[in-house]
Amino acid sequence: MSDLRVGVLALQGDVREHLAALRAVGAEALPVRRRAELDSVDALVLPGGESTTMSHLLGELELIEPLRTRLAEGMPAYGSCAGMILLAAEIVDAGAEGRAAVPLSGIDMTVRRNAFGRQVDSFEGEIAFEGLPDPVHAVFIRAPWVERVGSGVTVLARAAGHPVAVRQGQVLATSFHPEVTGDRRIHQLFIDIAAGQA
Ligand code: GLN
Repeated sequence: MSDLRVGVLALQGDVREHLAALRAVGAEALPVRRRAELDSVDALVLPGGESTTMSHLLGELELIEPLRTRLAEGMPAYGSCAGMILLAAEIVDAGAEGRAAVPLSGIDMTVRRNAFGRQVDSFEGEIAFEGLPDPVHAVFIRAPWVERVGSGVTVLARAAGHPVAVRQGQVLATSFHPEVTGDRRIHQLFIDIAAGQA
């Protein structure tokens, strides 16, 4: 159990799945759609979905700067897939002008959007994940990969030679979607990180 209030950015995407995964590991989890809700949480999950749509909605709801500020102040965060894209400092192939994915700079990294999607739309595989004894069954759906990491970033997993899980301080990101597989170890890791226990 933990006493953390963990928000899930609830504009679009795998919101219910993340809420369920967080509750399954004992966290208090709630959807975040408004500034007041963002202000009320200790940590935030940015779900898989479509980063350009989420960015558009973040702009409409005037949440981009508040989110950047919380991240700059050290709010623990976890992004899966589209959420990883949003947590980047730079995005390659961010999308059409006016509808592009917006980098929130939670992790000093450059992410290529739809990187795997160019080869194959989606795929699954067992991948080794730093610190976990058994491999993770990773589901990639039009997934990004990481092209550059800053010196403070740890790579936790790779696929096809590219980083697909990274951590910088209390911010974690994966190209794949643990919220859809029922393996709760990544959510457990995030709660431990957010609680200062990992
Ligand atoms: N390609 C999507 C994007 O750009 C990410 C896909 C996903 O989250 N499954 O946001």
